[in-house]
Amino acid sequence: MAASKKRLFIGLIAAACVLLFVTLLLFWVVPYVGLDNIHPWLKWVWGGLLAGIFLLIAWAALGLVVNVWTGRPMPGTSRLRGVTIKLFLPLMVLLGKAVGISKERVRSSFINVNNEMVLAGAKQYKPGEILLLMPHCLQNSRCNMRLTYDINNCKRCGKCPLKGLLDLHDKYGVHLAIATGGTVARRIVVQKRPRMIIAVACERDLSSGIQDTYPLPVYGVLNERPNGPCLDTTVSLFNVEQAILRFLDPDCLPGLASAKQQRGQTISTARGAQS
Ligand code: SF4
Repeated sequence: MAASKKRLFIGLIAAACVLLFVTLLLFWVVPYVGLDNIHPWLKWVWGGLLAGIFLLIAWAALGLVVNVWTGRPMPGTSRLRGVTIKLFLPLMVLLGKAVGISKERVRSSFINVNNEMVLAGAKQYKPGEILLLMPHCLQNSRCNMRLTYDINNCKRCGKCPLKGLLDLHDKYGVHLAIATGGTVARRIVVQKRPRMIIAVACERDLSSGIQDTYPLPVYGVLNERPNGPCLDTTVSLFNVEQAILRFLDPDCLPGLASAKQQRGQTISTARGAQS
């Protein structure tokens, strides 16, 4: 991951911790007098509870910083992706807005951190357990084929990236689906029951998709938007294939030796791309 994205993420995590600390302090100070009237120890019991919550948050934040900086998880912090998604991302977007950092930059930094965490805890999956989830805007805007319900309606004319994605679907046997929005994406996930998702989308849709589908691991690949947002977007087929090879069980591939060798190269490429 680029150093600037790491710095942005760590800066926002630190600011979120300060904000949470002040909030918890207020939760203690405000009822301080009232608690004293009930029992003299109660304010300290309440204070201890809030201090415990803050220590847990600080531990999670420290674990995240170590994970982001070193690329390795800190012992005892295996659920950090959930903490980042549920607690820190909304706070980071708010804080970023307050100090003039665009949502897009914060989300892009979050997607990179999420990908690193998914990579760090990566397992190997059978082809039928992996879902490639694509946005509708990849389809050529002049194409009349209806692909949302059946991707095989594509005539593979090559005028948009869907042809190449269908070739990857055929080659590796992974699921491929197109979603027109969050509701359809959720329906596809319920139908296909994948154990891991490789999703292509813009910063906004990827970060909300990662939040929606947690705890399913989602590896995000950003789309490219040469015609502006949501119109005839495209994606690097190389990056999608590298992601498939990173997560696919090589025993499921024909040509086992070359597949394992390719997977080894992919792991170093993925690590290199993140650093
Ligand atoms: S490859 Fe051709 S037929 Fe398939 S979705 Fe794209 S434009 Fe339509």
